[in-house]
Amino acid sequence: MTTERTHPDDLAPATRLVQLGRPPATPGGGVNAPLALTSTYHADGPVNYARVGNPTWDAFEEALGSLEGGDALVFSSGMGAISAALSLLPHGGTIVVPGHAYNGTLASLDALAAEGAAVVRRVSIDDTAAVVAALDGADLLWLESPTNPMLEVADIPTLVAAAHERDVLVVVDNTFATPLLQRPLEDGADVVAHSVTKYLAGHSDVILGALVTPHTERGRALHQRLHTRRSLGGAIAGPTETWLALRGLRTLHVRLERACANALVLAERLRGHARVERVRHPGFGAIISIEVTGGLEGAERVAAATRVWVHSTSLGGVESQIERRGRHASEPPTVPAQLLRLSVGIEDVEDLWRDLEQALEG
Ligand SMILES: *Cc1c(COP(=O)(O)O)cnc(C)c1O
Repeated sequence: MTTERTHPDDLAPATRLVQLGRPPATPGGGVNAPLALTSTYHADGPVNYARVGNPTWDAFEEALGSLEGGDALVFSSGMGAISAALSLLPHGGTIVVPGHAYNGTLASLDALAAEGAAVVRRVSIDDTAAVVAALDGADLLWLESPTNPMLEVADIPTLVAAAHERDVLVVVDNTFATPLLQRPLEDGADVVAHSVTKYLAGHSDVILGALVTPHTERGRALHQRLHTRRSLGGAIAGPTETWLALRGLRTLHVRLERACANALVLAERLRGHARVERVRHPGFGAIISIEVTGGLEGAERVAAATRVWVHSTSLGGVESQIERRGRHASEPPTVPAQLLRLSVGIEDVEDLWRDLEQALEG
């Protein structure tokens, strides 16, 4: 006998994170989704081969899909998901993209442009009029908000409406905000992309990605195309990584709440620090970018001098991370050399502050 659970639409996101993606409640049955390590299935079921479907994917996708308000597809990495989403651009089509965005996305678009497979229009994503002006004749609008690492914020509802008036598809990379802070599908976006590696999995132990499409006719058609792309592209998510990501997702709400609260305190204190020339923090989320005195060397010294903050690339883990973004040649030249990106974790905020202070003053 199975017990029907409450319909997810009745539940708050914090509860859905905990409840969804579990097997039906049967006496003696497990409470967690199985880690399904199998390449094939007994014949005549809904899925016959595990490149096409896996029960561990289903569990993760149920939880993430519900949070974003759509149907999720898990991919082997954020870039795997982004590559699949970019396949929606017709060959030679025009894409409007933020001047600052995840450098892998920008590099992929540069490669497509160099092959003549795409025309790329870079815009300041916080300049709504400029973005709208760039949409005429475009095929796809790529949004990332807040942007990496400049933390510019896009007016997503206005840009989606302007794009759809011109029959332009909209993809939003929602990695920085997570569905707890921003749900682009509710604003009409066609696809949401995630690097699950970051906040969703949250423990810096897996690389994973996802796409989510809305429960509309158009969304279902996109889902079908992306699903086919995943099955035939073949670079699929490992069940173990997916299982770990679902385990991480269970605590997203508490992790993000703490990280965001820490970030607010730190952004405020950094604004008053003599060694900090500029603080970027959009007022939500747990990423802060700061520009420190002493230029490139000054920034490198700070990153190397922290003891609690981990000097490493990436973001969204429980541990606080610090990195000078300009050390990556792939970062646009408009990212200041002295910019440090801080991914604020869930540690004690006073420990984080003391460590930053000693690194800034050292
Ligand atoms: C990390 C990241 C990606 C790429 O994801 P991977 O999981 O590393 O492939 C894409 N977009 C944003 C905003 C990211 O931070």
